[in-house]
Formats: sequence, structure tokens, C-alpha cells
Amino acid sequence: MGKRKLPNYDKPVLSVTHAKLERASEESAYRSRCPLCAGQLLGLRDQVSLQLLRQDRCVRCGQPFEYIDDEIAGEKLPAAGGPLMKGAT
Ligand SMILES: [Zn+2]
Repeated sequence: MGKRKLPNYDKPVLSVTHAKLERASEESAYRSRCPLCAGQLLGLRDQVSLQLLRQDRCVRCGQPFEYIDDEIAGEKLPAAGGPLMKGAT
């Protein structure tokens, strides 16, 4: 509370093709430029399995994204439409 939310934080998820996004850095195959604000998408990983996730969020505008690619930089993404994250059970 008291923390200002990013403008697109509560917007509906945008489906994008990671491979078609502009890379944000030549040093990372995962970082992309946000098509809305040119901020960065870092590429999120599951904190436990380190599996690359389909879901991502722009660090500047807060827009949530979902990648529709089968893999990113040779790493397989979880099956489309699967659980967002593994439950704790
Ligand atoms: Zn953005």
C-alpha cells in the first residue's frame, strides 16, 4: 500500500511471440523490448525449478505478457494453457 502501481499492471495479458520481439540486449537471448513502452521484459523463471515461464511483465509499464513460442533460445517453455506456476502442494 502506498506504492504506486505501474500504469499497465492490471491490463489483460498480451500474447506475444518472443522471437518476434526486439531484443533488449545483445548479451541476453531472453531480454526483450516491451512493444508498448520500450521498457524491458527480462524473462521470468520459476524460483524453484528455474524453468523459463511463459508469463512475463514489463519492468517499466507493468504490462503482463504471455509468450506463445514453443521455446526461447533453445529452452522449452511449459505447455500452453498449463498452470501458471506449480502449486505448493
Ligand atoms: Zn512496457
